[in-house]
Amino acid sequence: MKRIFPLLLTVALLSGCASAPEPVLQSFFAMDTTMSVTAYDRDPTEALVAAQQAVNRLDALWSRTRADSDVAKLNAAAGSGPVAVDPDTAALLEKANAAALESGMAFDPVLAPVMDAWGFGATESETTAVHRVPEQAELDALLPLTRDLPVVEGDTAALSLAGQAVDLGAIAKGAAADYVVAALTEHGVDSAIIALGGNITALGTKPDGSPFRVYVRDPQGEGEDFLCLMSLRAGRTCSTSGGYERYFEADGQIYHHIIDPADGYPARSGLLSVTVVAEDPALADAWSTALYVLGAEEAIARWKSGEGTVAGMDLILVTEEGHVYITQGLEKGLETLGEGAGYTYEILRR
Ligand code: AMP
Ligand code: MG
Repeated sequence: MKRIFPLLLTVALLSGCASAPEPVLQSFFAMDTTMSVTAYDRDPTEALVAAQQAVNRLDALWSRTRADSDVAKLNAAAGSGPVAVDPDTAALLEKANAAALESGMAFDPVLAPVMDAWGFGATESETTAVHRVPEQAELDALLPLTRDLPVVEGDTAALSLAGQAVDLGAIAKGAAADYVVAALTEHGVDSAIIALGGNITALGTKPDGSPFRVYVRDPQGEGEDFLCLMSLRAGRTCSTSGGYERYFEADGQIYHHIIDPADGYPARSGLLSVTVVAEDPALADAWSTALYVLGAEEAIARWKSGEGTVAGMDLILVTEEGHVYITQGLEKGLETLGEGAGYTYEILRR
């Protein structure tokens, strides 16, 4: 170890002297959120155009509100047989189904009718959404349309019951990261940070070889308040779900956008936010939503068990009491920032 260290130091100093180009950031709006790509290692103009095109293509396939999307066609044909879908749509539906089953349906890709009842998700933009608190009878009538997962066969998909609808809002943005990475690498970009809504993917490392550093938001703070700063190793995605991202207030109550499929109400699991760090960006996205519904105890039990998808991920769980659980894989390079705001931190080990 002692021998390697001076060598690494020399390399780092040398690369520091080389004229590395300034990072170039490009932002665009897609999938109802702001997306940004910051490329570090070369003039990324063409690559960034390709990345944006890749996301636009997926948006056109997976949007619920664009009438000609795969998801809209599938929803329109609910109860009346299969529709042809793009292979990328079929692959995403299969991934969503697997996450749904493994999470015990805490993540449910056919929760759309219930989300619509609350005014979450049905409109093209959150700014035009009309939120309301549905009657229990209304939810009871809609819940039977959930849980029955889309049937994917080859490049076709089907919903078995009329009135069912798929919404991939909890997985699509994460899934898009894979395509952005492919578009960037095809154009020679090997060092970039990709932010798609609440999902951040590290393509490679910083040009000096050190990992990218990302902030995790304080779920109770303003946009500039942070819970921690952490290293995001090459190829990993960090995905955060929190009730603070989308909510409305009615009769002095806060109702947020992550729904517990068990009763059709905003999840009350005792968590304020869940961050998942994983190799597969779609799974990071799907599981941050699922674990938010499942709660800290279940999330920790799954991680500690050493078996299943969650055990292969790193987690940051923030409870309503202000306790922050962080799994051991994130400890290196971690800087906690929320003590002043009253947070307490605990590293989970197994
Ligand atoms: P995320 O920000 O990734 O946690 O995704 C939240 C979005 O996923 C919401 O705005 C809904 O569109 C949708 N959603 C809410 N609850 C669930 C759930 N339990 N399973 C799947 N999707 C959900
Ligand atoms: Mg998600």
